[in-house]
Amino acid sequence: MSNYNGVNTSHSNDFDSLTGLISYDCFMERVDDIVRADLSGVAAGKYAFLYLDVLRFKVINDIFNVEEGDRLLIFIASHLMSLFSEDSIVTRVSSDRFAIFTKTENEQLEENLNRYLFELSEYELPYEIVSNIGIYITSRTDLPAQAMLDRAILAHSTVKGDYIRRYAYYTSEVRDAILGEHEITGIMNLALETNQFVIYYQPQFNHIDKTMVGAEALVRWIHPQRGVISPGKFIPIFEKNGFITKVDLYIFEQVCRFIKKCLEKKIEIIPISVNISRRDIYHPGLAKKLEEIRIKYDVPVKLIRLEVTESATIDGIQRISDFISEVHRYGYVVEMDDFGSAYSSLNSLKSIDLDILKLDMKFLSDEGNTNNGSIILSSVVRMAKWLGFPIIAEGVENKEQADFLLSIGSCYVQGYLYSKPVPEDEFMQMMIDSGIQPLKPAMNLINKMNANNFWDPKSLETMIFSNYVGGAAIYEYKNGNLEILRVNRKYIQEIGNHISETEMWKHNFLSFFDDENREKYIAMLERAIESEDEEECETWRNYTDNPENKICIRDSVRVIGKSIDSVMFYNMIRNVTAEKRALEEIQRKITNSV
Ligand code: C2E
Ligand code: CA
Ligand code: CA
Repeated sequence: MSNYNGVNTSHSNDFDSLTGLISYDCFMERVDDIVRADLSGVAAGKYAFLYLDVLRFKVINDIFNVEEGDRLLIFIASHLMSLFSEDSIVTRVSSDRFAIFTKTENEQLEENLNRYLFELSEYELPYEIVSNIGIYITSRTDLPAQAMLDRAILAHSTVKGDYIRRYAYYTSEVRDAILGEHEITGIMNLALETNQFVIYYQPQFNHIDKTMVGAEALVRWIHPQRGVISPGKFIPIFEKNGFITKVDLYIFEQVCRFIKKCLEKKIEIIPISVNISRRDIYHPGLAKKLEEIRIKYDVPVKLIRLEVTESATIDGIQRISDFISEVHRYGYVVEMDDFGSAYSSLNSLKSIDLDILKLDMKFLSDEGNTNNGSIILSSVVRMAKWLGFPIIAEGVENKEQADFLLSIGSCYVQGYLYSKPVPEDEFMQMMIDSGIQPLKPAMNLINKMNANNFWDPKSLETMIFSNYVGGAAIYEYKNGNLEILRVNRKYIQEIGNHISETEMWKHNFLSFFDDENREKYIAMLERAIESEDEEECETWRNYTDNPENKICIRDSVRVIGKSIDSVMFYNMIRNVTAEKRALEEIQRKITNSV
């Protein structure tokens, strides 16, 4: 069959005019012919049917131009033809999609595919060209070319868009997964109409006083024959086919109905969080629809929170920001679910107007290295506190985890330690039985100065901090330790440039003092906590190993934030070493002259 791969020069319909490959119809006929001619080879798996495409080919056409797109297709066609030159035929199915039928051993096939992928990665456009490949290895002799192509396409769908796994084989697992997907799609509408989607509620607790502070509504699919189907199984399929928006609106309505019922029964109720899929936020008018439902049930907006997942930011921040602004206008509190799981954590915190962060303990254990995970977790908690966000930790399974969270300043937990998600009646009873309390930010900023703006390099606060005030620092005081969070340039100058900013952060600040001076310093901090006013003191310290470098600093401090276990201070310093030395000199002279 190798002779079918020649580039055509005529204008016959048997060839693709752009790439010179044989036409799709011709290709399919040839495949059927080959199969009929070598049934034993086909049964023995000697042939492979490949299907491949170019990821986001339209973007290439858009960013560059159609000629560039065409050039890429010609490049691919000619490379495929030279790699699959013997006992193979290649065609372009349509646009950027190609198919190959080849007689080959597995190793040879993968070698060819790897070479193709390598050549593509070297392609000269300043844009990463990604191609994914589905492979069907023949086994049955009764499958027409079309059925083989379908199988290669199914295998392809399992890796499409995957930058790491570029090709996949068609296997029975692939078939089952796809069949499962088809089946779920086939029965989902009926399931919604016949109320098979049921809500379970998972309460959230304050680990300090064990009061309930909120709950999350989680959907369960209770199928009359198959029993409970877990959301992990159907949510991704609904997100793919768009049905998730219907389900989320339904869940939202059921939550409203439940809250109304509690209010009518005069049961004291806590806010309920409803999940909003990343797919939902692209649905025009979703926020308005939610609001109509809420009004229909006459539910106060403060009793519902909306949970958006951090992965929604991957498709760009604009859409999610717009959605959040819109629901904020109606008065909803917005939580960021699975915070820290997507790449965008820090960025999204800065640019999205969120109210509450949810951290998943999964990211601690997934690390494999618990130590690493706890460092990440505590820095995220500290950052969230500093920005004034309440934090809810979820997936908390044991007391050690909850105690650890408390030790880093986060007291709100959701997880099996306190309760699994439970059905409505059980949840209602839990609310009746336990105390209820509102959520508070992890750190209460008590100073008028807007401390949040310190994170914004362009803010007035930062400008003042960096340029106009003298030496200034912000630090956190906790369990007798003092950790510098931020110092300005003048601070470093003031202490004689003996230490860099990064070294400041590495040290326990109090280690620069001797015992006597340290005590004096801590006494000032304690006074400032007590008085909530500015307090001052003068102390000697040394930032170097050389005893000659002792300096005297006059500090003034003021509390700017308090959490359950730490206090944040704003600190101004002045180096008074020269004055002190001069004073000492005068005193010595006086003493000597007496
Ligand atoms: P999620 O929003 O992150 O929900 C938390 C998941 O963690 C829930 O799984 C919950 O049952 C589980 N979980 C709670 N405590 C623990 C614990 O201590 N240990 C462990 N290992 N797991 C715990 P679930 O209910 O299976 O939901 C899975 C995901 O399905 C949810 O993750 C959410 O992304 C999605 N989902 C569930 N209900 C809805 C819904 O109504 N709408 C949308 N769009 N998505 C939903
Ligand atoms: Ca959630
Ligand atoms: Ca979550």
